[in-house]
Amino acid sequence: MLRLVTSIGEAWRVASQSIDRLDARLLVEYVADCTHVDLLVRPTRALSTDQVARLAALVKRRSGGEPLAYLVNSAEFYTLEFQVSPAVLIPRPETELLVELAIQRLQSLPAPRIVDLGTGCGVLAVTLKCLYPAATVSAVDLSLAALEVAGRNAARHAAEVSFFAGDWYAPLGEARFDLIVANPPYVAYADPHLQQNGLPFEPQMALSDGVAGGDGLACIRAIIGGAARHLLPDGWLLIEHGYNQSADVRNLLWSAGLSDVASWLDLSQVERVSGACLR
Ligand code: GLN
Repeated sequence: MLRLVTSIGEAWRVASQSIDRLDARLLVEYVADCTHVDLLVRPTRALSTDQVARLAALVKRRSGGEPLAYLVNSAEFYTLEFQVSPAVLIPRPETELLVELAIQRLQSLPAPRIVDLGTGCGVLAVTLKCLYPAATVSAVDLSLAALEVAGRNAARHAAEVSFFAGDWYAPLGEARFDLIVANPPYVAYADPHLQQNGLPFEPQMALSDGVAGGDGLACIRAIIGGAARHLLPDGWLLIEHGYNQSADVRNLLWSAGLSDVASWLDLSQVERVSGACLR
């Protein structure tokens, strides 16, 4: 019984009986403020009754399906550590593809102008600013709670990002950019996926466009629809989308008058990001 343990090693073993072993390890490390090496080399290190009580509560929440990132208030993206809270979507590894594609397009620009639409906890904006210190980076979100988290992440990584509250391009005026990136909500309303894998714990406004009976593309349409008015010549729009939306997204990009329309595969071989250029 977890309540009775007194050391980190014992805590790891007992917690592993009710949740995944890696999750158990990460929760023990979080509560005891120790490392994986401590667990292996100093398993007898003591845990206070208060730490044990906190661990038991976290293990219970994890057993109930709450994502680990919300329990430890942290997630990794593109090798950087980001604070997360239930106000923001947890960064996904497939979104790192967007960073790779952005890097390919930014290399020849000395001081690119970049905007991240629907920034959430700020992963795209902060990562790109860290990679391109000379870039001017803006980030937009409708959620003030998300912008607070994103602001803390920017400060933590000393990334100078200008944050704007509002609906997609609305707070940006007539500004134009070399690169627009977005990981918008794209899961169709009432898609059964929204009930699985911890998604019920995440902000639904970050996952789905909320259009009953729709195809999940409402936000993607808004972003693509405004791109030509907000891209500089030869500027790129790169946008993440659902596993079955790439053909629709490419059609939207063509219809918006953009060129070099393409889609790219994520690590699971799913077309996950599409993009196009304003020639
Ligand atoms: N890829 C995420 C999921 O299906 C959704 C991310 C998003 O809506 N932008 O879990």
